[in-house]
Order: sequence, then structure tokens, then C-alpha cells
Amino acid sequence: MDYRKELTTSRINRRELFIRSFSFTRRNNFFVILFFIFIFSFFSCARDESSRIELALGTVCSVTLYENGKDIVFDKIFSRINEIENLMSVNINSSDISRINGNAGLTPVQVHEDTYKVIKRALYFAEISNGAFDPAVGPLVALWGISGDNPSVPSHEKIIETLPLVNWRNVIMDNQEQSVFLTRTGMALDLGAIAKGFAADETAKIIKNEGIARAKIDLGGNIIMLGEKKDKSPWRVGIQNPGGSRGSIIGILRIPEKTVVTSGVYERYFEENGAHYHHLFSPSLGYPVQNGLLSVTIITGVSTDADALSTAVFVLGYEKGISLLESFPEAQAVFVFEDNSVSVTGGIDFMLTDKLFYIK
Ligand code: FAD
Ligand code: MG
Repeated sequence: MDYRKELTTSRINRRELFIRSFSFTRRNNFFVILFFIFIFSFFSCARDESSRIELALGTVCSVTLYENGKDIVFDKIFSRINEIENLMSVNINSSDISRINGNAGLTPVQVHEDTYKVIKRALYFAEISNGAFDPAVGPLVALWGISGDNPSVPSHEKIIETLPLVNWRNVIMDNQEQSVFLTRTGMALDLGAIAKGFAADETAKIIKNEGIARAKIDLGGNIIMLGEKKDKSPWRVGIQNPGGSRGSIIGILRIPEKTVVTSGVYERYFEENGAHYHHLFSPSLGYPVQNGLLSVTIITGVSTDADALSTAVFVLGYEKGISLLESFPEAQAVFVFEDNSVSVTGGIDFMLTDKLFYIK
């Protein structure tokens, strides 16, 4: 392994990270993240692998290449991730999504083929989940301020006023023009529940095209394990303890080449008057979903789909979520409930490690 190169990579990343951190909205988590990045960088230097970590897509993105980890490959990967962010972020004025939202009720907007593809896929998941997954959730996300620094509980009246704007059926796509039109003023797309998955799939493509056989991609919890371990044993991926500190797990999945994506109440939330409000909204009610679930993890082959499915299944709840998953025979799931019970779908290799939880 070229230790010199790897140290250079780590140094550059820490500097970039420091600069970029000022635009990172969840500043209160900044020092915790820095600590984990330091630990991560330290340990990755000690093994036969190289890693790069950057803040992108509003989260911590890390890529570990278990062979041939050259700077040029990492550069390619992170410029692709940044390109996707520049196309699909609601926080970047020039992005396709901001342009679509800015022209809601006015005119269709031509977009990049990536954006078009992701919106198309998002509408597919909206349809099959009967609107539980809705990429037109933007007005609700904005009303609750859940992605910003000052989230708060809106009045019930405001929520009721906003609900008619949240409707994926009013997103009109034109295949010929590659354009997207939101039919009502005030509508807004938010691809927060699917675009990280797309970015992870694109990262995997780059790594495979480079002929790299073994890698780990983790874009803020959208994980892809590529190839197989040197000793041929399965990859091990921890399931986050929803009530624990970041990195504390309730159990371990053992998987071959797969993507693992979790939607959980702990990712983004705030507390007001002693109540916990998270970021996974019911598009029909306008409130964070309360159905006894704390997290849903999807394990499958395509990260875009796993990302959308984890959110869709969470919002649908256990029973309806399980029925939705029947249309995806390859997909497996881990459900963590408020009563510390855990449910796993058949064929999954999952080992519970936290004795406070139990399999039902
Ligand atoms: P997921 O379950 O995958 O997604 C939850 C998110 O989807 C919610 O936060 C909400 O935005 C949306 N959502 C809520 N309910 C529904 C529903 N019923 N149907 C569909 N969608 C729903 N965060 C920042 O703080 N700053 C940034 O600059 C920033 N930029 C981003 C740019 C891009 C391109 C993307 C994809 C995300 C960005 N984020 C940003 C968002 C941040 O990374 C989110 O925390 C993340 O997308 C939520 O992902 P998750 O895996 O935790 O949850
Ligand atoms: Mg998701």
C-alpha cells in the first residue's frame, strides 16, 4: 500500500471538510462528525485500504477502496457526487430541482438526464406506495423547517393549508422535452429520500469501471458493499441503535455485495415541549409518521431503490410495508420498533448484539 498517498488524501480531506463545514446546516453535530472522521482516517491508514471522506449531500460521505485507491479515482467519485448535489439539491439556487420549484405553476423546466431519471423513479415509488413516498413533499419539509437550523411545529391550520400542495400526481414529466412541471404554485420537489441512493449507485459504477473489485460506499447511511472480502467471508454491516449514540449498533447484518439503506427517526429531528418530531412525513396528514417504528433498513441490489423503499416502507408502517416489499423479491428488511422489538424478513443473516432488543 502507498501510505504516503493515503496520508495526503486524508490531509486534503480534513482541510476541505473544515472549509465546507461552514455551509453544513447541522453545525451542532459538526464536532462529533469531526471526531468520527479523525478516528476513521486513523484506522484506515493502519490497514490495507484507502479512504476519503467529504461533506456532500448535506451529510458525511465516505468511500473506502480496498485496492488501487488512487487520488484520481477518489477525485472522480467526489466530483460525480458533487455534480449530483449541484443538480438535485433544494439548497442550491441553480440546481434543476430549485429551477423546477421556482417555476411551479408557471412553466415546465428542462433538466439534466440524471435529474429526469431520479424524478421518474421517485414517481414510480410514489405510485406503488400509494403516495406514502412523495417527492413533492417539499412544502411540508419547508413548513416544519426540518432541514434547517430552526425547525418548529407549525400550526395545524398551516399544515392543512399546505397539504394540497403535496401531491406527486401534479408532477408532470415530458419524455420528449426531458422537462418537469409542477402544476400548482407553491409546490416543491424534495429528492432527499432518493438522491443519495442514486449518488451511491453512480459511485459504485465509477469504482467498477476502474476495475476495483472491493469497496465500501457510505453516503450518510446509504451503504453499498462492493465485491467480496479477501477471505470470502460476508461483509458485516451494523444496524444503528435508533436511541443510541451514532455508531452504536443493535446488531450485525452479514451480506454479500449489496446495498443497505436505513430510514430512521434519529437521522433528523427536533424536540419541542418534550415531544420528538422527526423528518419522515406522512404526505396525507402532514405530520411526522408515528406508527411504532424507529427505523426501517432495506437490503437489496440497487441503492436508489433501497433509499426510496426505506422511506416508503417506514411511512407505510409494518404491515403495508411488508406487502409493498412483496413486489421486490430480492429486497430484505430489518424493522426496529419503539418497544425494542426487531423484525427481520426471511433469508436475512442478522445477528442481534444488543440484549435490550429482541427479535419478534
Ligand atoms: P430518508 O428516509 O432517505 O429521507 C428522508 C428525507 O426525505 C426527509 O428529510 C425529507 O427531505 C424527505 N421526506 C420526508 N418524508 C417523505 C416522504 N413521505 N416521501 C418522500 N420524501 C420524504 N441536508 C442539509 O442539511 N443541507 C444540505 O445542504 C443538504 N443537501 C442535500 C442535497 C441532496 C442532493 C440530497 C439528496 C440531500 C441533501 N440534504 C441536505 C439532505 C440530507 O442529507 C438528508 O438528511 C437526507 O437526504 C435524508 O436522508 P435519510 O437517509 O436520513 O432519510
Ligand atoms: Mg430514503
